[in-house]
Amino acid sequence: LLLLFNFMKIKLISPAWPRDSFWANFRFQFPIISLSTVAALTPSVHEVEIIDENVEPLDTNAFADLVGITAMTPLAKRAYEIADTYRARGTKVVLGGYHPTWVSQEAAQHADAVCIGEAEGLWPQILADFAAGQLKPYYRSETRPTQWGYPHPRRDLLQSKPYFFKNTMQTTRGCPYDCEFCAVTTFYGRTYRSRPVEDVIAEVKSLEGAAGFVVFVDDNIIGNPAYAKELFRRLIPLRRKWVSHASINIVRDKELLALAAQSGCYGLLIGFESLSPANIREIGKAQNKVEEYKEAVKKIHDHGIGIDGSFIFGFDEDNPGVFERTVKFIKDVRMDAANLFTRTPFPGTRLYAKMETNGQIIDHDWSHYDLHHVVFRPRNMTPEELLQGIYDAYKGIYSLPSIIKRSWPWGRRTQVFVPMNFGVRKASRKAGYF
Ligand code: SF4
Repeated sequence: LLLLFNFMKIKLISPAWPRDSFWANFRFQFPIISLSTVAALTPSVHEVEIIDENVEPLDTNAFADLVGITAMTPLAKRAYEIADTYRARGTKVVLGGYHPTWVSQEAAQHADAVCIGEAEGLWPQILADFAAGQLKPYYRSETRPTQWGYPHPRRDLLQSKPYFFKNTMQTTRGCPYDCEFCAVTTFYGRTYRSRPVEDVIAEVKSLEGAAGFVVFVDDNIIGNPAYAKELFRRLIPLRRKWVSHASINIVRDKELLALAAQSGCYGLLIGFESLSPANIREIGKAQNKVEEYKEAVKKIHDHGIGIDGSFIFGFDEDNPGVFERTVKFIKDVRMDAANLFTRTPFPGTRLYAKMETNGQIIDHDWSHYDLHHVVFRPRNMTPEELLQGIYDAYKGIYSLPSIIKRSWPWGRRTQVFVPMNFGVRKASRKAGYF
C-alpha cells in the first residue's frame, strides 16, 4: 500500500556496446525483453522509462528516483560507468542480468542492490524496500519463477525505438541441455519452463503489425517437443512470421519441423559450434551429430526455413585449417548466415571454471568477452592467428558472391537473411575485419 502512494520515476537502462565493436555496428537489432518485463512488473502508479543506449542517447542528467541497469558480461564495464555516474549524484541503482548474477560481489561495488537471478520474484520486493528506504545489497531468487500469471512485457515503452524487429517475446525459459560454454542452464537451472500456450497465443494476437516478424527469444524453442507442437499448431491460424533459436535435433522429428514451417517459421538460429566430433564431445553437445549436419541443413531448407548457424573457433582440437574447412562447409550447404565466434569463457560457465583452473585466461577485461575478441590462450595457434582466422572467415562468408550464392534460390527465408547478411557485412567491415 505504501508503494501506491509513493510515485517514483524509474529508469531502466540497457548499456551500449563499445563504439568500435562489431555489435555496435550491427543494426539488425531487437529490444531486450528483460527490461520490458521488469517494466510490466512495476505498479502502474509509477512512471517507467526504458532507455536502450544502443538505439538512443542516455541523458544521465535527467532525473530518476531509481535506476535499474541490465548487464551482459561485455556490457558490464559500461553498465558500471552509468551506475557510478548516477550514484555519485545520490540516485539509487539496481544492477541485474547475467553478469551481476555471476559476479555479484563485483557488481555490488557499483550498485545499491544487485538482483541475482530472474527478476520476476524480486523486483516487487526491491521496489517496496526502496520506497521504505531499506534497500538491501543483494536480492536472490530462491525459486524459479513459473511465469504463470505475470503481465506481458510493456512493449508500448519500446514502440518508438528504431529496432529492426519490434516484437520479441518468450514462450519458454531454459534448455534441457547443458553445453560447457553456455550460461543458460546455470542461470535458469536444469528446468525447462513453458508458458501456457493459451497465454502465448493471447500475447501473439496482441502484437501490433500483423505483417511484422515475431522473435521468440527462447533459448531453445523445441526443448519440449510436445509443447512446441501444440504451440505451432495454435500459431498456424494466426498467420504470423517468426524466428527463434532451436537445437539441431529439430530435424529428427518430421512432424515438429513441418509444424514449425506451417506456423510461419522463417529462420532458426542453430548452434553447430564445430565440424569436429571431438570438439562436440568436449563441450557436451550430444544432440549435435557432425555427420548429420549437411543433411540437417537440407531438411530445414526444404521446409523454407533459413538457418543462422553459430560456429565457435579456438577449441583444443582446432588448428589453422579450421577456418577454411568451416567456410567451405557454410558455402557448400548454402547456409543463410553464420556467426563466427571466438571461444569465450563467460563467468558462471563450466568453461570459465576450467580455463581459470588451467591458467588459460589471458584477458579479464569484460568488454572483450563479446565473442569477437580472444581472451584465452588457444592450444594450437596464437591468439592473433585465431582472431585473424575469424576475420578471414567473415571475409569469405560475407563477400558479395558468397551472399548471392548462399541466398539462392530466393524464397521466403531470404526476406530475413538477405538484410541480415548485408548487416553482418557492414558491421564486420566497419569493425575492420576486411
Ligand atoms: S543447446 Fe544451446 S541453449 Fe542449450 S545449453 Fe547448449 S548452447 Fe545453451
